Amino acid sequence: MLNVEKIREDFPILKRKINNRQLIFLDSASTSQKPNQVIESIKNYYEMHNANPHRSIYQLCDEATQLYEDARKKVAKFINAKPEEIVFVRNTNEAMNLIMHSFALPKLHNPSEIIVSIMEHHANIVPWQLVRKNNGTKLNFIDLNEDGTLNLEQLNNSINRNTKIVSLTHVSNVLGTVNPVKEISKIVHENGSLFIVDGAQSVPHMTIDVHDIGCDFLAFSGHKMLAPMNIGVLYGRKEVLEEMEPFMVGGDMIKEVTTEGVIWNDIPWKFEAGTPNVEGAVGLSAAIDYLEKIGMENVREHEKELTQYALEKLSEVEDVQIYGPTNPEVKGGVVAFNVKGVHSHDVAYILNDFGIAVRSGHHCAMPLMKRLGIQSCARASFYIYNTKEEIDALIEGLEKVKMVFKL
Ligand code: PMP
Repeated sequence: MLNVEKIREDFPILKRKINNRQLIFLDSASTSQKPNQVIESIKNYYEMHNANPHRSIYQLCDEATQLYEDARKKVAKFINAKPEEIVFVRNTNEAMNLIMHSFALPKLHNPSEIIVSIMEHHANIVPWQLVRKNNGTKLNFIDLNEDGTLNLEQLNNSINRNTKIVSLTHVSNVLGTVNPVKEISKIVHENGSLFIVDGAQSVPHMTIDVHDIGCDFLAFSGHKMLAPMNIGVLYGRKEVLEEMEPFMVGGDMIKEVTTEGVIWNDIPWKFEAGTPNVEGAVGLSAAIDYLEKIGMENVREHEKELTQYALEKLSEVEDVQIYGPTNPEVKGGVVAFNVKGVHSHDVAYILNDFGIAVRSGHHCAMPLMKRLGIQSCARASFYIYNTKEEIDALIEGLEKVKMVFKL
């Protein structure tokens, strides 16, 4: 059980008033709020240790290097990887772009195939469309079952000897579906394909062990797990990363440059050209400390409880349609819905009058919207600082939405 009241004390922004109401932040799937511990870690970095890492031997430089590399070790431990398998990037989008440029574009050609699912975020669709356009590879989309889970039978049937990459989200940012990535990993590897997991919505919310899952790549964003924006992670299995050429080149990613040529640095540095985001890494490290203190199993349990409660309450509201699984065991802390006859932006706009922040729109998942037969939807998403009372307020807000639209 989480001590949510105590946790909330750590998040200064939660004291804010919006339209004279206490802020109710139900959009952590977009980006999470940040605790004092993270904010302070960044302040302390700039007040005490700032320098450009890896570049000189004076003390501050050494300290900045140490902080940056310690953060890498912390991330590695958090997902049970080796430090050299952790590449710091800006976010999940950049991680996917790195795989596209450094692996897919140079290595995949017609008749190679890539498999994704219809529930993917654009970050896990658009790069593979570019590979299709450039290299003539095929891109197959796995469909959903009626309950919003992934159609594993179709995955099994679609995978074939030309399939080189299977790239799936661990948790859908719209449906909340938790995909059985460990099971899928076996299928993918039996076929000799690479398995990429989009962990943007899973790493912040549950225990993740890349060895247990067996994936080749895992991408996630710090800003969704209490850390600042612009620090993200690409985990890559050592052997795969070593085979790949960097796509961003220049400073700090080389061992030697002569007028004739270049020798790349070792992994992971060969993928990190230019001055890195040390403050981001420091903030991410503090965020992991914070989450580990709470315990990732407790984070997941808390969100399961909130999700179950939200599903129960929302299903009692007439004219509300919920998308995705209704079993919290296979659902992350994400509940997408529409109020019949009301655009999701109107729903979000009216909820804002009551200080409630929910996301509306297509959630960077336009193929999924089309599959669901909708233009957009609203989404409430939960994290460690959310309470059942906030869900009650959301339900009350939705009744107001219905009143405004005379439903
Ligand atoms: N994948 C999923 C499942 C996401 O939810 C998101 C963020 N909404 C992303 C990828 C992209 O994350 P970022 O914008 O941090 O690159």
